[in-house]
Amino acid sequence: MIERKATNIVWHAGRITRARREGLSGHRGFTIWFTGLSASGKSTLAVAMEEALFEHGCHAYVLDGDNVRHGLNNNLGFSPEDRTENIRRIAEVAKLFRDAGVISLTAFISPYRSDRDSARKLAEAEHDAFIEIFVDCPINVCEQRDPKGMYQKARAGIIKDFTGISAPYEPPEKPEIHLRTDQLTVDRCVCVIMDHLKQHNYIPCAPNRIQTTYYAAAP
Ligand code: ADP
Repeated sequence: MIERKATNIVWHAGRITRARREGLSGHRGFTIWFTGLSASGKSTLAVAMEEALFEHGCHAYVLDGDNVRHGLNNNLGFSPEDRTENIRRIAEVAKLFRDAGVISLTAFISPYRSDRDSARKLAEAEHDAFIEIFVDCPINVCEQRDPKGMYQKARAGIIKDFTGISAPYEPPEKPEIHLRTDQLTVDRCVCVIMDHLKQHNYIPCAPNRIQTTYYAAAP
């Protein structure tokens, strides 16, 4: 449990309600939480889904594990405590995105069930949707894919605490969606997720109108 250091802080409410934001964008903010081993396909699917949602006229944004560790979480390593803090911060960022009416797609190994459950509780406390997707792929296939050469380094002992090799992964017990990425193509996975979102009224069945002209950036 992280120590709370800030005192004498008072919440300052804004004037734009969720309903007003929803009226503008045509959908609510919610979280799609991808979890799975390294190289199981989380980033690939998050990016493909971001594009599918964008083309559907929805505001969506990827929070990618490696990218977030370049900035916000660049002071965290891979010890159990740091992994928990990594996920706690992302859960809080995802909460801000939901409040802003944006769909966030989080691509983090997030190996501990309790950390994912905390992220879910944060969403459900606000009656927000939290869609956990188990990106399931056998470790031998992940190891063959190894797009970033991480398994090779973990086997050689260069990377310590590597999930699936020298650190645990606790699979979700009841994910909203379970995808076997060694059996389904990326396009098929995107279809499964989009169908789920439409069936549960998280996004409209018909695409929102998309602004096709862009405002030029100021010089
Ligand atoms: P992760 O983010 O989980 O570490 P990546 O998305 O970086 O994984 O890498 C997954 C690799 O697996 C990519 O090279 C991707 O092209 C490949 N792949 C094959 N089939 C799938 C699928 N159905 N879904 C996602 N990735 C897939």
